[in-house]
Amino acid sequence: MVTMKDIQSAREQIADVVCQTPILSSFQLSKICGNQMFLKSEHLQKTGSFKIRGATNKVKNAVRNGATFITAASSGNHGQAVAYIASKLGVPSVIVVPEDAKDTKLNAIQSYGGKFEKCGWTSAERLPHAKALAEENDGVFVPPYDDPLIIAGQGTIGAEILEQLDNVDMVVVPIGGGGLISGILTAIKETNPRVLVIGVEPEIANDTYLSLKNDKITSIPATSTIADGLRTSQPGDLTFPIVQKYVDDIVLVKEEEIEEAQAFVLERMKQLIEPSSAVTAAAAMFDKLKVRDKRIVCVISGGNVNVR
Ligand SMILES: *Cc1c(COP(=O)(O)O)cnc(C)c1O
Repeated sequence: MVTMKDIQSAREQIADVVCQTPILSSFQLSKICGNQMFLKSEHLQKTGSFKIRGATNKVKNAVRNGATFITAASSGNHGQAVAYIASKLGVPSVIVVPEDAKDTKLNAIQSYGGKFEKCGWTSAERLPHAKALAEENDGVFVPPYDDPLIIAGQGTIGAEILEQLDNVDMVVVPIGGGGLISGILTAIKETNPRVLVIGVEPEIANDTYLSLKNDKITSIPATSTIADGLRTSQPGDLTFPIVQKYVDDIVLVKEEEIEEAQAFVLERMKQLIEPSSAVTAAAAMFDKLKVRDKRIVCVISGGNVNVR
């Protein structure tokens, strides 16, 4: 299991690449929610999402151990983060993407210095291809969440929150495969277990919610939630036990609630955030957290959206 020590060493490893993102406060959001609301702003992170934290921890470790080639399977934030850090470290990378990947995402991978290769339509096709490519070329495959170094890297957000803000009552975190929340849970529960950590999933992508209820990893059919970073079909083998051990609750939000929260944060706070991060603001705005007068930090996980 990942420990606070792993998170501390991740912090040292990634310090020269990643920025300590600000925690924004909002009077308007606080008024609506009946709580003091804060946003941990990873949409202002390098590459536009927190994924650079875990990716940097993992890729630096791989390169230190002699890897000369990096692969990943994701056209989204993870793929962009891996391309960015690999090229920063001077190592070639190939990101395996679906046949229908959008040009904007492919351009982002290229502009960060990575190459892409199209392969199939599902992650079941992409994953083995990315792993095989790595093996053939003396490389390392970087998984999106189910890896101790990735989890520890994402956990650095939890450590930062506790340092940046006093008297936090609750931290609210989106859940895809669970790398982000399991890292944050480890940092927070090993430092101050009185801080509540609540996970959020879209109603139509509730795999971790169901897994928790069933007490075992449970998968759901493919989902089309607008929160495209949360479209995983099941939690990870490493991330799920951490969620099971530490999480205080998981709440669900509707698609319209996600859209409304995203628009609110843009219009009132002038912050462009992506739907996968807006789930946490939605949970607060639509009273899924069921608390009043608390100091609540919503983790805003990324801001990569197509505006045109
Ligand atoms: C990947 C991602 C998530 C989900 O993170 P997991 O570690 O898979 O749970 C949430 N928001 C954004 C913006 C992401 O890119």
